[in-house]
Amino acid sequence: MINQSYWIDTKPRFTRGAETLGNSHYDVAIVGGGLTGLTAAHTLAKQGVSVALFEATAIMEQASGQNGGQCSTGVAQDFSALSATLGLDKAKRYYTAYSNAVDALRNIITEEQIECEFRESGKLKLAAKPQHAEKIFNTCELIQREVDPNVRFLDAEGLKTEITSGQFYGGMVQDNAFQIHVGKLGVGIADKAAEYGAHIYENSPVVQLKKQGKQFSVETPKGKITANDVIIASGISQHGPLGWFRRRIVPVGSFILVTEKLDPALIERLMPNKRSYVTSKIIGNYFRVMGDDRLLFGGRARFAMTSPESDAISGRILLKTMGEMFPELQGVQATHCWGGLVDITPNRLPRAGQHNGMFYAMGYSGHGVQMAAYMGQQLAHMLGGHPEANPWKDESWYAIPGYFGKPWFLPAVGAYYKLQDYLH
Ligand SMILES: Cc1cc2nc3c(=O)[nH]c(=O)nc-3n(C[C@H](O)[C@H](O)[C@H](O)COP(=O)(O)OP(=O)(O)OC[C@H]3O[C@@H](n4cnc5c(N)ncnc54)[C@H](O)[C@@H]3O)c2cc1C
Repeated sequence: MINQSYWIDTKPRFTRGAETLGNSHYDVAIVGGGLTGLTAAHTLAKQGVSVALFEATAIMEQASGQNGGQCSTGVAQDFSALSATLGLDKAKRYYTAYSNAVDALRNIITEEQIECEFRESGKLKLAAKPQHAEKIFNTCELIQREVDPNVRFLDAEGLKTEITSGQFYGGMVQDNAFQIHVGKLGVGIADKAAEYGAHIYENSPVVQLKKQGKQFSVETPKGKITANDVIIASGISQHGPLGWFRRRIVPVGSFILVTEKLDPALIERLMPNKRSYVTSKIIGNYFRVMGDDRLLFGGRARFAMTSPESDAISGRILLKTMGEMFPELQGVQATHCWGGLVDITPNRLPRAGQHNGMFYAMGYSGHGVQMAAYMGQQLAHMLGGHPEANPWKDESWYAIPGYFGKPWFLPAVGAYYKLQDYLH
């Protein structure tokens, strides 16, 4: 078993990066080569804007290349709870932003003909306790009535045509969801951005960012450029002068394994519709079948940061959990196991806007594949003078007290969530 993301291990090599600085001035400099930065570069370059994208390591090798490759509509938290907290109108707007994000990414893939193992799948949220089924039923009714007719509830009996596991009591299917190979997707978007003229610099951490009159100066070990505008698309950045953002996002480890190839007949028996599955516990699991009949199985196995030791322990926990959920998979081996850091905000809603004149979008809180790609596009529109393109403009963003980028409080948060999962 290797401790590396399956997507990173099997993605094509990006060969259109620029090595030495092409220009000394650009219209826009982008910090970060994940899905946010790459789709921003793609959208802007396609419009004829001159773009330099700086990536600290290699493109698509942080969260964007480490996730489950599941794109689905719906906010990160329960829609009923969100409506109760924010009011129905705002909750509907946020839900719609996610539906738009799924549609936007689907359009990029179709229009640019990006080969990324795209498969329409639908998403199935699974009730892990009887009382969760009741809650999901109520939420499903509300979503169907108010914002999305393409959802439906399945009771325990209805679930039998969807999944063979004794652990679930009902579920909600959301049709607007698809699956992709995120590595192929990201490299495909980067290739197109480069074809439209974007300069993409890998191994180029931005070490200094300064406002100079009406321009910004951007410094990397490769040299210094100026730009009229800057986009910060740095996720849970651990590099450079981005402390303001680091104090507002908590990086939480999430872990994933990919199994050896399974017998197609076994998959057909266990999960014939090959959806994107997610369980209802706070410390729950997500899983999906991949193009070549492997199972991807992930979750917050532990409230820990990622490291080789941590990933190995988490892999063992995930294999055990998978075997309990699907006894027929006991003994199946994993070929890949990895951990990544999820970009969590205090209320699990993304943040986007301007800070010190620079545009930013991040904090997708585990629902970022579609939203990062969408926000890359929206940042391009915001920068073009359309602040209304920002679905998250009403969300304020305070620094977390006592937090400077090292989440010392994670064990306590983990213990609290475990207790909540036990009690409710
Ligand atoms: C394990 C895991 C599972 C997930 N599962 C899902 C899922 O199934 N579905 C879903 O929708 N979402 C999922 N997510 C969330 C999703 O992957 C992220 O929200 C999304 O990819 C964030 O994209 P991004 O471009 O904003 O950030 P990133 O992909 O993190 O990209 C930011 C980039 O900025 C670079 N950078 C940082 N600082 C600097 C600097 N100073 N100079 C230059 N470059 C810099 C970093 O190196 C990085 O490459 C998951 C995340 C993880 C970690």
